[in-house]
Amino acid sequence: MGFERCRQQMVDKQLKRRGILDYGILEAMGKVPRHRFVPPELTLSAYHDGPLSIGKGQTISQPYMVALMTECLELEGKEKILEIGTGSGYQTAILAELAKKIFTIEIHKCLSDKARGLLTDIGYKNIEFRIGDGSKGWEEEAPFHGIIVTAGAPEIPVSLMEQLIDGGRLVVPVGARSLQTLYKITKQGDSFNKKEFTSCVFVPLLGEYGWKEN
Ligand code: SAM
Repeated sequence: MGFERCRQQMVDKQLKRRGILDYGILEAMGKVPRHRFVPPELTLSAYHDGPLSIGKGQTISQPYMVALMTECLELEGKEKILEIGTGSGYQTAILAELAKKIFTIEIHKCLSDKARGLLTDIGYKNIEFRIGDGSKGWEEEAPFHGIIVTAGAPEIPVSLMEQLIDGGRLVVPVGARSLQTLYKITKQGDSFNKKEFTSCVFVPLLGEYGWKEN
């Protein structure tokens, strides 16, 4: 089966059937070549229903989780988004399809360099990359309409809540190292509305507002 067909099956079986209805997300995930974001030996597994190893002990997230987290951001196309954990760059590509400008931070230089090369090669021009501790956010570029953390945090990082615009959304897995809950936090004036989504398993968010050791 060709990659395009695999992608369409992924969209139909893994996303639509589980309740992802946002047309833009379904279209973006039907378009972005996920097989280019995995190591060559995993190309044929790229559209499987789960996370895959991308080296450095890190993973590219399950397609459904990418779709669900993106849906939580409620993108309309005009947003400035911060992503913590560039990883393979796949989630970055989906965001770049759906929002105006993406700022993405990765702690591992080799992963950031690889993702930057691929995303540039594919043709994205609305992404800024940074190597470093994303748990502190990107203060010079704040505030953001949306912040997405693609690694599991021990607590909701206050640093990131402070970098949201009024009405902005923070999507973050929070909990133990081995199991987290996905939260969507919406800033409403001086307060924050917290909504719980699903159980999930992410690699740990490291750094000042994450886990202190790997
Ligand atoms: N969104 C990615 C994708 O589509 O491939 C998946 C990312 S992976 C589940 C989580 C990433 O977060 C890893 O690449 C890891 O190195 C990175 N990470 C962990 N702690 C970080 C931190 N404090 N700042 C930036 N990146 C971090």
